[in-house]
Amino acid sequence: MTEPIQPGAVLGVLGGGQLGRMFTLAARRMGYWVDVFAPEDDTPAGQIAYREVRAPYEDLAAVERFARGVSVITFEFENVPAATAEAAARHAPLRPAGTLLETCQNREREKLALRRHGIPVAPFAVIRGPEDLEAAAAIGFPAVLKTAAWGYDGKGQRRVDEAAALEPAWRALGGGPAVLERFVDFAAELSVVGARGLDGAIALYEPILNRHADHILDLSLCPAPLPTAWRRDALDLARTVLEAFDVVGVLCVELFALADGSLLVNELAPRPHNSGHLTIDAHGCSQFEQQLRAVCGLPLGSTERLVPAAAMANLLGDLWQAGPPDWSAALAEPGLRLHLYGKDRPRPGRKMGHLTVVGPSVEAAEQHAVAARLALRPRSEPAGEGLAT
Ligand code: AMP
Repeated sequence: MTEPIQPGAVLGVLGGGQLGRMFTLAARRMGYWVDVFAPEDDTPAGQIAYREVRAPYEDLAAVERFARGVSVITFEFENVPAATAEAAARHAPLRPAGTLLETCQNREREKLALRRHGIPVAPFAVIRGPEDLEAAAAIGFPAVLKTAAWGYDGKGQRRVDEAAALEPAWRALGGGPAVLERFVDFAAELSVVGARGLDGAIALYEPILNRHADHILDLSLCPAPLPTAWRRDALDLARTVLEAFDVVGVLCVELFALADGSLLVNELAPRPHNSGHLTIDAHGCSQFEQQLRAVCGLPLGSTERLVPAAAMANLLGDLWQAGPPDWSAALAEPGLRLHLYGKDRPRPGRKMGHLTVVGPSVEAAEQHAVAARLALRPRSEPAGEGLAT
């Protein structure tokens, strides 16, 4: 059995975004050092890290130098190139493994792997070239066309309502490898964040209910106000995925819940997930501490919820359009915790931070989170504009 990596060690993170920042905050609290590798400087994670190494992911010599200085490497950015992951893994354990990263960063590979493991997904077809279009149309319409690579937050996606619209949609998305998926008329979207340790132990957070706006996560609610059977089946599916994909680390399973009571897996994220941010304020051990425990070979932490309910609302750059948000208005809310990611360029749709409200019921937490976010709007801004809700 490999020795656990103890406090005082240096942990390496590939990627400098907010997921790395929250991981680094958890790690530093526990007495670890964190080095961050990112192609930009002054990144959200780098601001908190011990060292921030700025180099392109393609600079494999820099990746190897970075890896030699750390005890373990994890990632917060899913599109780390395979060669970078391999170079890093030559000098330090990469957890989760590069093979999982490679599977999850490509929708075709991910869907095929899910299907191979017998995990339910929406009917889909793989499109590698124009010759595949006709056969792909057989899955039926409406459908959603998704580029195989570089997809997140609805990027590289088009809804296609009829066969005649498929080829133009595919060309508009660049005419590259893609997946055509049946449009799912879901009743709800859920996610389960889970962790699996080096010893195979699994810890799952309860399912979280997610609401999206413009394909970007807007609100997450916990406990998910949903029938027990959905919640139980969601946990079973997540456990199956963690085992089937031999995960060491944290992984989020995004699910569609259908009106007939069944569940389909939409996507996997082999890292902490936006919907799990509420675990920082609501659960015994946050998803970021859990990632640290899993990749360091430590016992997994408690996934028990310590408050009756929590709601997380994302803060997108849109909120800054008419000037800086009115922070004191939101901070007047007693159960509210503010998380900002240290980004200085608030573009529309860019995730700048989030707020979590804990409360006596999920309805109350949701209501207060939405109200607090509305109260953030600069006073000069007319109601009903500028906020992606
Ligand atoms: P994704 O990037 O694949 O997670 O998609 C982002 C969001 O788009 C999802 O959370 C859903 O709200 C929506 N979406 C994706 N795929 C489908 C589908 N097959 N049917 C209906 N909605 C979808």
